[in-house]
Amino acid sequence: MNPLSLTSKLPQVGTTIFTVMSSLAREHQAINLSQGFPDIPCDDDLTRRVNFYMQKGLNQYAPMQGAMPLREQISSLVNELYGANYDPTDEITVTSGATEALFCAITALIHEGDEVLIIEPAYDAYIPIIELSGGVPVSISLDFPDYKIDWEHVKKLINGRTRAIMLNSPHNPTGSVLSADDLQQLQKIIHSNNIFIISDEVWEHTVYDGELHQSVARYPELASRSLVISSFGKALNATGWKVGYCLAPAALTKEFRKVHQFVTFSTATPLQHGIADYLQYHRERVTGLPAFYQQKRDRFLELMQGSRFQPIKSHGTYFQLMDYSAISDEGDVEFAKRLTRDHGVASIPVSVFYRFNTDNKVLRFCFAKEEETLAKAAEILKGI
Ligand code: PMP
Ligand code: GLN
Repeated sequence: MNPLSLTSKLPQVGTTIFTVMSSLAREHQAINLSQGFPDIPCDDDLTRRVNFYMQKGLNQYAPMQGAMPLREQISSLVNELYGANYDPTDEITVTSGATEALFCAITALIHEGDEVLIIEPAYDAYIPIIELSGGVPVSISLDFPDYKIDWEHVKKLINGRTRAIMLNSPHNPTGSVLSADDLQQLQKIIHSNNIFIISDEVWEHTVYDGELHQSVARYPELASRSLVISSFGKALNATGWKVGYCLAPAALTKEFRKVHQFVTFSTATPLQHGIADYLQYHRERVTGLPAFYQQKRDRFLELMQGSRFQPIKSHGTYFQLMDYSAISDEGDVEFAKRLTRDHGVASIPVSVFYRFNTDNKVLRFCFAKEEETLAKAAEILKGI
């Protein structure tokens, strides 16, 4: 028999940092502030509703586009928050998490050799998915430590091969957010170009200090060329359910669904119906999240006072960056692993979100945790 030969399609890719750090945390029984998930339980009323639909027998395939009651609730939520009108029939698709939606959006849009602008540091799924489609990622670097976009620079990166720009606000891992002015500048830049927008807004319900989430859905001209991606994982304390969605004008949705139907086809039926009810009867628990998580952020910062870790302000997401340069000059991956092994607190090193290993000696900590968890972690970190 001939020996099998395997050529990797992703030769540079290893195991995602979220798996690496969560496994290390488990192995050392460390407090896990690395991978972003809450240790706050999801609402009883939500699990009851999902249970209800399971028991009622809604256990077969959901429609490929998503269960209609959920699509209707998403349409109404987006209208309430951003004044945007998305038709549940042909402009909203439910997906198995934002990750699936990212995969479908990029696969549907990107052809061999197309350039895709990404904001760097970049959430780790973006580049591999772009490369699987034969696309070429082009980085827009955020300046350390403010993590703002220089739009003049973006203008210079655009050329005839630029097919799309990926936005991510609030931004994971930095916690920076786009302002209305940022979106207006983007609008000016792409007005006369044939460029699509893939806007990853999974952190939309975690924007702090009285700022409003600047969804591209608020801006009709941007929305007309955008696929807006979100997820219920963060909003419902249910990251393990993997229910997300994509909003896009009908022509874009049509292409998006061509891919989606062959990736997962559909998403767990009772989850969709349970979430739809919850959005109908308890919507204020989602729209009230900014206040809840701002209080968590402030509490974590308060608990960390007196530490040698220097916070870099988080404007959104449930992550807080900490500069550890006053403690060590080790590389951030090594330092994060040592912190987990020797001190029992796991975090995410930010350098892994850069292509060319920019290491500003910064770690990302998840503050979506109960008071007791945050207090224990802060006590350890303050002793370092
Ligand atoms: N995009 C970003 C920026 C994220 O932070 C995450 C995970 N938190 C995702 C996408 C993936 O979301 P999901 O778990 O719904 O697939
Ligand atoms: N988005 C989560 C984070 O940033 C992790 C998602 C995952 O584990 N794939 O921590």
